[in-house]
Amino acid sequence: MGAGPSGFYAADGLLRGSSVSGPTLHIDIIDRLPTPFGLVRAGVAPDHQGTKAIVRQFEKLLAQPNVRFRGNLEIGRDKTWDEIIAAYDATIVATGMVLDRKLGVPGEELPHVWGSWRFVAWLNGHPDFRTGPDLGVVKRVAVIGNGNVALDVARLLAKSADEMAKSDIVPEAGAAIAAAPIEAIDIIGRRGPEHASFTNNELAEMGRLSRAVALVDAKALEATAPADDPTPERLRKTKNLDTLRAFAGNTAGAKPIALRFLFHTTPAEIRQGEYDLVVTCIGYGGTELPKGEGVFAVGWARRGPSGTIPTNRADSHAVAQQVLAWLKDRVPRDGVDPLPPGIDAAGWQRIDKAEIAAGAAEGRPRIKLTDWASLLKVAGG
Ligand code: NAP
Repeated sequence: MGAGPSGFYAADGLLRGSSVSGPTLHIDIIDRLPTPFGLVRAGVAPDHQGTKAIVRQFEKLLAQPNVRFRGNLEIGRDKTWDEIIAAYDATIVATGMVLDRKLGVPGEELPHVWGSWRFVAWLNGHPDFRTGPDLGVVKRVAVIGNGNVALDVARLLAKSADEMAKSDIVPEAGAAIAAAPIEAIDIIGRRGPEHASFTNNELAEMGRLSRAVALVDAKALEATAPADDPTPERLRKTKNLDTLRAFAGNTAGAKPIALRFLFHTTPAEIRQGEYDLVVTCIGYGGTELPKGEGVFAVGWARRGPSGTIPTNRADSHAVAQQVLAWLKDRVPRDGVDPLPPGIDAAGWQRIDKAEIAAGAAEGRPRIKLTDWASLLKVAGG
């Protein structure tokens, strides 16, 4: 359940494991959206096409004879969890986390405060998030959080139209960002730079933006990576500190947008007027998940909202081994097909083709269909 990376990697792990040791599996990869790939489509930043290329591996899985995709199947509307669990020998919950975590401070409900999921889903064309913030009035932006999502949000707001030209950002969002009168973007961390969870390449990228200059107060950088961290973490943090020190040498005003890193700053209240847009990038929550015999969770649904796509590969493969062990001792259920008709891989491929064709006309990887009616119509042929 859930056609994001961890769901596909679970299917991959099952196929790899079963070809060595056992039963012939039939795998249904089910999603509530008409489109597969979860956060790769709706979460990964539209200018990071290299990351999105992972879907080619998932497409190979969809081409396997014993794997089916079924989109537009929603738990609660079309099936209950109990019905799904009863219909399969094993159920893998790969539904991720799609609720923005709350800061819990006064002012958070003001209309200029956006959670990162809602904001990124909008510019990535998620059909449930078709309205973005009114960027026509936005000069000063606060991005709260010191993870890669905060960098994504700040970078996407800072990039020029030229820098976004080869992306698959939703055209209306791209145009709104390009036209916004943004002058300052503050990336706000509640702890010091030695605790930021940025990865090295993503932080370094902030120093290469054509219309924004990365700035940081050198005094905030009198820090070292915590000595008790494991070596890879210490190396990552040390490199980040070096990158930030280079930013500290930049000149304010060198480019139209000031991209400031502010550390040791905990928001106590959000007021009207201080910033024109506040995007909280402080993690995600999920809804209650089913439990029971033969039910396994993977990815963010299992571990919480941390880790990159490769983290989920290892995680899902390990869970797939547990699923195979569970299946080994079971008599398979009878062959009644539990799936109602709906969007299958061919339906998704019609959407994919239409989007790629629309993009080709403009030199973009794709232009996404962003409304349910068009998605369903194109999928239906
Ligand atoms: P993250 O790395 O966990 O960062 C969340 C940030 O929010 C942390 O800096 C955290 O600070 C801060 N925070 C949490 N609660 C807060 C509060 N109440 N007030 C102020 N700050 C608060 O998570 P993420 O950025 O959402 O990313 C999720 C995962 O996706 C990460 O593993 C990330 O690497 C991955 N991702 C990867 C890429 C990429 O590879 N390019 C892009 C996007 C996301 P504390 O540390 O103090 O708790």
